[in-house]
Amino acid sequence: MPEPRSVLVTGGNRGIGRAIAEAFVAAGDRVAVTTRTGDAPDGVLGVACDVRDGASVDEAFTRVEAEHGPVEVLVANAGVTKDQLLLRMSEEDFTDVVDTNLTGAFRCVRRATKGMVRLRRGRVLLVSSVVGLYGSPGQVNYAASKAGLVGVARSVTRELGGRGITANVVAPGFVETDMTAALPEATRDGYLAAIPAGRLARPEEVAGVCVFLASEAAAYISGAVVPVDGGLGMGH
Ligand code: NDP
Repeated sequence: MPEPRSVLVTGGNRGIGRAIAEAFVAAGDRVAVTTRTGDAPDGVLGVACDVRDGASVDEAFTRVEAEHGPVEVLVANAGVTKDQLLLRMSEEDFTDVVDTNLTGAFRCVRRATKGMVRLRRGRVLLVSSVVGLYGSPGQVNYAASKAGLVGVARSVTRELGGRGITANVVAPGFVETDMTAALPEATRDGYLAAIPAGRLARPEEVAGVCVFLASEAAAYISGAVVPVDGGLGMGH
């Protein structure tokens, strides 16, 4: 059994982040999640954090470091949508989504890698979306933020790959969570028809890939975009 690691998952009170946190607990790690609202799952340390605020991110990391030691695995999962057709999308709709999904991830990655460089090991996982590379009408803001994470992971890989740190992107397709429950039925049916697997993913299916990418078996995978999308984004 490997030594337990200090794992931090952002947005771990519900949805995919919660499933990821539970999967790391099952793998024997010491797990913390950021919560803006709601509670952490059982056996997981919950720390208040809004990823739009650098000071809040710093405080959350300081608390996790005090309780569990330096963060060795970061899963930047917190994300939002604010869909609107391009011609009606305000600049605020765009920058708000980028602030949480992309700049928020940057704030966490920058804070986490400080400790990882000192440890000379670490795993950075960025939860993107099939939409980042596939595109989606009404989601210019969301797709841009998710595509940006690929540039982050690949640049971190080039900058810190020699320090025992890997950075990868996980790109889920459509997953059964609150985010997709909010979709109109016709939109959902349209997606289902386009997904070769013929169904949405379960959050646990995304979580399993995260645990693998953080494992010793994945030590030589970095800068990759790993789809978990039932074949929806093939070729992208
Ligand atoms: P949910 O809407 O169920 O959960 C989003 C999580 O992010 C919540 O924990 C939420 O906290 C947190 N969050 C949002 N804004 C902030 C913020 N400013 N600071 C801190 N935490 C924040 O989403 P999912 O579980 O479905 O999605 C998780 C990730 O997976 C997202 O990045 C999403 O883009 C991505 N994804 C989801 C897909 C899907 O089909 N569901 C498909 C592809 C990617 P709170 O509860 O307080 O709002």
